[in-house]
Order: sequence, then structure tokens, then C-alpha cells
Amino acid sequence: MTSPQWDRRIRRAAELTSAYPFAAEGLRFYARVATVQKNLYAEIQKALADSPKTSAGRPLRDELDIFLLLPNFLPFLSLIENIAPVPLANAAVRMAEKGPAGWQQAIEGFWHRETELASMMDNTEEARSGDSLEATASERLLVWIFLQPYAEYLAINREPTIVDGTPSTCPLCGGKPIAGVLRSEGDGAKKSLICMLCAHEWNFRRIYCPACGEEREPQMAFYSAPEISHVRVDVCDTCHAYLKSIDLTKTGLAVPIVDELATIPLDLWAVEHGYKKLQVNMLGI
Ligand SMILES: [Zn+2]
Ligand SMILES: [Zn+2]
Repeated sequence: MTSPQWDRRIRRAAELTSAYPFAAEGLRFYARVATVQKNLYAEIQKALADSPKTSAGRPLRDELDIFLLLPNFLPFLSLIENIAPVPLANAAVRMAEKGPAGWQQAIEGFWHRETELASMMDNTEEARSGDSLEATASERLLVWIFLQPYAEYLAINREPTIVDGTPSTCPLCGGKPIAGVLRSEGDGAKKSLICMLCAHEWNFRRIYCPACGEEREPQMAFYSAPEISHVRVDVCDTCHAYLKSIDLTKTGLAVPIVDELATIPLDLWAVEHGYKKLQVNMLGI
């Protein structure tokens, strides 16, 4: 049986498609992506069903079952080619042409974060054209979509990790947070962060910047819009990073990573006010 989180995400995307027409196109694309990911997850689950749980002390990215993943990559690329907007569909075609050695390199590069470092260096290199930067970003996005269900499977099927403190990146895989979550606790709310790769959720401090560590209250603010009152933009006026938080005390129906994708006007507000997102989402926003 597949974990129910995939159906919840797909259902929430459909609900929000009618509630937030401005995000309809992106949400329809996301629902198709999540369906592809759900099927990948089922394949991984079937293949690894008899494997023992990973021990708590082992970093998640020490695992990488390339023999399991590689045969699924080309079928994945053809599915994406059929459902994605043109730039991503083109990236899928280019990636397919690279062949197994190139696929393995792309998968391992993302997993071991070599491409992350490379793209950071690319950004500082003026010689690189905008086109090739965009192509690199699309190829990274493809590999991220492909590896996310595998990482999520590993995060769920391991011995529970006892986390020391409130780290700014995922205690299991080191990934950046994609969204914050507020849940009710006593009379107030407690905050946690969700990992962009393995979807693990960990406790975080209410007033603390996950990008630069700022903790002075006047530097940390949030913005929300009356028509989307359950999602807010947490901004840091020291490093100008922002991240959206989904307030589940206001609506328990929200599915944080989907509501994050749907609330595009909040991203527009943040960018207009000079903030930069801590982690771009699967729609490239
Ligand atoms: Zn993670
Ligand atoms: Zn900051």
C-alpha cells in the first residue's frame, strides 16, 4: 500500500485549483507530477519492502540505490516530457539523450550535492549565459522531482532520529526547508520546518532565521494577506531571505507543501519587497 500522503497532496491540489484560480495552471501541473511521484514511490516501496530499516545515526544521503533508481529514470523522463511546460519538457528530452552514464552522474551529483555547489559557482560566473543557467536549473528540477519520493521513503523507513536542538537544515538529509508549519500547542502554536527533499518535518524556533541565524525580533517580521490568511511570509531583514509558513491552527485542511505552491501572490509580494526565497519550489517559484 502506498503511503496516503500522495493522495492527500493530489486532492489538495485539486481543491486549491478552484479556490485559487491564479495558481490553477501550476497546481494542475503539480497534481500530475505528484501522480508520477506516487507511482515511483510505490515502485521503491515494492523493491525495498524487505530491506531492514536504516539506523538512526546514518545520514540519509549515505544511501543511494542507483541500481533501483536508474531503470526508472528514462520512463520518468518521458512522463515528464508529456506533462511539463515547454522549458522542463525540453530539459527532459535533453536529459534523456545523455544516456545511462549521464543519468547516473546527474542523480549522484544532485544526491551528493555537487550540482548544488556547481550551480552556486555558475551564478557568480558572468561568462555563463542566461540560457544555460536556466537549462541547468531545469535539469536540477527534474532530478529533484525524481529523487524526492526516494528520499521521502528513506526518511519514513528508518529508525527515529533524536534531533539535537533546532537545526536550520533537515536533520536527516541536510536539505533546505521548503516551508514552515504552525501547529497548535497549548494556548499558542509551535513551529516546524519541512525538508525540500525528504519531506521530514522537524521542530524549529518561532523567531529565528533559517538562512542566517538572525534571532533579534525587530529583524524578523511576517506578512499575510486577508484573502490567504492561513499562509504567511516570514521575512528576515538582515539577510532578506523569506520562507512561507502554513498555519494549521487556522485551517487543518491545508497540506503545507501544496498550499505553499498555491499562494503565488505572497511570493510576488516578497519579491517586490526585495526578499529572496530560501528554497525555490517545484514550480520554480
Ligand atoms: Zn530531509
Ligand atoms: Zn536571515
